[in-house]
Amino acid sequence: MRTMKEVNVRFAPSPTGPLHIGGARSALFNFLFARNMKGRLVLRIEDTDLERSAPEFEREIIESLTWLGISWEEGIDVGGKNGPYRQTERLDIYHRYVDQLLRNGHAYHCCCTEEELEEERRVSFDKGQIVGYSGKCRNLNPEERDKRISQGQVPTVRFRVPSGEQLVVNDLVRGSVSFNSDEIGDFIIVKSDGIPTYNFAVVLDDHEMEITHVIRAEEHLSNTPRQLLIYRALGFSIPEFAHISLILGKDRQKMSKRHGATSVMQYREQGYLSEAVFNFLALLGWSPEGEQEILDRDEIIKQFSLQRVAKNPAVFDLDKLNWLNAQYIKRK
Ligand code: GLU
Repeated sequence: MRTMKEVNVRFAPSPTGPLHIGGARSALFNFLFARNMKGRLVLRIEDTDLERSAPEFEREIIESLTWLGISWEEGIDVGGKNGPYRQTERLDIYHRYVDQLLRNGHAYHCCCTEEELEEERRVSFDKGQIVGYSGKCRNLNPEERDKRISQGQVPTVRFRVPSGEQLVVNDLVRGSVSFNSDEIGDFIIVKSDGIPTYNFAVVLDDHEMEITHVIRAEEHLSNTPRQLLIYRALGFSIPEFAHISLILGKDRQKMSKRHGATSVMQYREQGYLSEAVFNFLALLGWSPEGEQEILDRDEIIKQFSLQRVAKNPAVFDLDKLNWLNAQYIKRK
């Protein structure tokens, strides 16, 4: 008998606001995939944006997920072998890997001041170019670097992006998507306050937490080539990626308040049944094989597969949610 590879997925919200429909749909797809594959779901809190992150949002996210009936085997609240599960509690782990990248030349200290960077951006803008960082500090000699640091300049750490490479994301939903490394400037992996950036921390955490499938919103597809470079530089094995489509309103505009309540809690407050919202969210980008659209949790888990997740945007239709909700109320 063939042994199936163990499946570990994660939902990694930033606690910078309430859990929105889009986030809830990502959480749900991870949950459904994990359950269907008899795998594990990890809930990790990505709170490196110190100014915008707040404990009350973390609580609201957990409450919203719980209301929907989404549970996790590992992560915040429940613990697990790869914790802690809040990024600000993992700084020592990140620093270990930064040192490794600095030592082997994949990363370097950047001593450019905000004014210098601003000037660079202005010059490229005037030339009509949209380019990333010029790489000015790539070959800064150690004496010069130390001099600038002693003068009070606090360095950031940048990743050295190789030139002229095609970086290919083999996405389970979108197929193979390729990016040119020349369009990615050397990007910051650690800010001057010592806090890692999203693209860096996410790779280290997904690796350390043994994530096999990264299922997340399409808006992160363009971050993936940067993450691939980090995986490669550290010799990590690369997980599978599945980027799920945007959610649009019926008018094909990006989902916003105009199309209905945006946070999960608002639906609870308005009296929607969580089973109906669960069913509705599952149909935002995934479709069951048969005609039947009213499916309970267990049936959705049983039928869920990434092969049936659509590439084109999902359309948020409040009338459909109302209809589903009415069906569930009738059944009660
Ligand atoms: N913290 C990121 C977000 O909330 C997670 C992205 C990811 O899943 O990699 O968008």
